[in-house]
Amino acid sequence: MALVVQKYGGSSVGSTDRLMAVARRLIRAKERGDQVVAVVSAMGDVTDELLDKARAISADPPEREMDMLLATGEQVTIALLAMAIDTLGHQAISFTGAQAGIVSDAVHTKARIQEVRADRMMEALDAGRIVIVAGFQGLTPDGEITTLGRGGSDTTAVAVAAGLGADVCEIYTDVDGVFTADPRVEPLARKIDTISYEEMLEMAATGARVLQLRSVEFARNHNVVIHVRSSFNDREGTIVKEADETMEQAIISGVTHDTSEAKVTVRDVPDRPGVAAEVFGRLADANVNVDMIIQNVSEAGTTDISFTTPKDDLVRAIKAVGEVVADLGAREWSVDESIAKVSLVGAGMKTHPGVAALMFRSLADAGVNLDMISTSAIRISCVIAADQVDTAVRTLHKAFGLDERSVIAETAPAAPGA
Ligand code: ADP
Ligand code: ASP
Ligand code: MG
Repeated sequence: MALVVQKYGGSSVGSTDRLMAVARRLIRAKERGDQVVAVVSAMGDVTDELLDKARAISADPPEREMDMLLATGEQVTIALLAMAIDTLGHQAISFTGAQAGIVSDAVHTKARIQEVRADRMMEALDAGRIVIVAGFQGLTPDGEITTLGRGGSDTTAVAVAAGLGADVCEIYTDVDGVFTADPRVEPLARKIDTISYEEMLEMAATGARVLQLRSVEFARNHNVVIHVRSSFNDREGTIVKEADETMEQAIISGVTHDTSEAKVTVRDVPDRPGVAAEVFGRLADANVNVDMIIQNVSEAGTTDISFTTPKDDLVRAIKAVGEVVADLGAREWSVDESIAKVSLVGAGMKTHPGVAALMFRSLADAGVNLDMISTSAIRISCVIAADQVDTAVRTLHKAFGLDERSVIAETAPAAPGA
């Protein structure tokens, strides 16, 4: 008997018909003799709708209350799914994050899971029930409800799988797995059969929202193998696990893009020690995430600093920057919301020179201007104009041979249909 965790995202539970389909899939697993835990998201666009309602009332709502609001989305799904299983003649029980023993820190709207107290889930499983857990939410040791950041149900699923010592952690979504680019932008993208944690971390960090970044970190830290697959068919998806010699040795695994960030520029900041520390210290104090940073060459004792930040953090970023500009005597600041980031990810970059040169040349030939550039050992990212992002993704996908097969050494046979 295996213990299986299956996570269903928003579009997989987007209607009552879809909930019935998910209920049947869970029952199939149960009837195979497995113990089954489902982790579910809010139905369809419910989380976005809740966010819109909050923003119609306040530009900067108190984060504790935001969590009280957002956590309701998943609570609807768990109850309806338990009812669906009940009407099909099987036993289920729904749990909120708190009831499932998901303990988090107290950073509202971006909380991190600290511990999973799995006893109550275990008891229900031992009693023969299908356990249904609300994704995306936790409870602090002080009894406050938190949420885990957008896409956080993925992290709930991985944490529950780790906490229960599950044999399988399946993430069901609306595409067949992890692709070489977002299949909605690049129709020639192909499904990746297996990918290492290292590469998946970079892909998730640069916009491949099919898995939340934190879920991949959690999986790597707790050695949870993830199977990303579609809830709309029975095809094998993508396995995310520790790198080994049977994996495809692609130079480039994928092209990712992200339009969720904005660029903030602070002009004519005094060029002296401690200024960057002051700017980014204030942003950190305001709980603003910062991604790329560029400081221009200094002229006449002043310099410009630009950084990118999630648009979700922009209201807080602007407030902090406004204060710091006044305190430091900088000239002005500006915000550009029409930017995008396009990235190339691949472990083969470490050993193959010329990847950056080909990336920049291909984008230049396609008329795409590069605004900022950053790199890691296995990733190159460029900030470009938002209206050029689809062109940039398709240009790079083609330039690096991803729509054909860029695999240069394959030691394992390809999966059927790959
Ligand atoms: P869910 O509601 O199931 O959590 P998400 O919308 O969070 O689903 O994530 C799935 C979406 O991620 C897909 O519909 C796809 O458009 C997008 N996506 C972006 N990049 C990739 C990629 N490289 N591979 C697969 N999907 C991707
Ligand atoms: N419902 C949450 C969101 O839309 C969590 C999730 O779907 O993973 O971000
Ligand atoms: Mg998601």
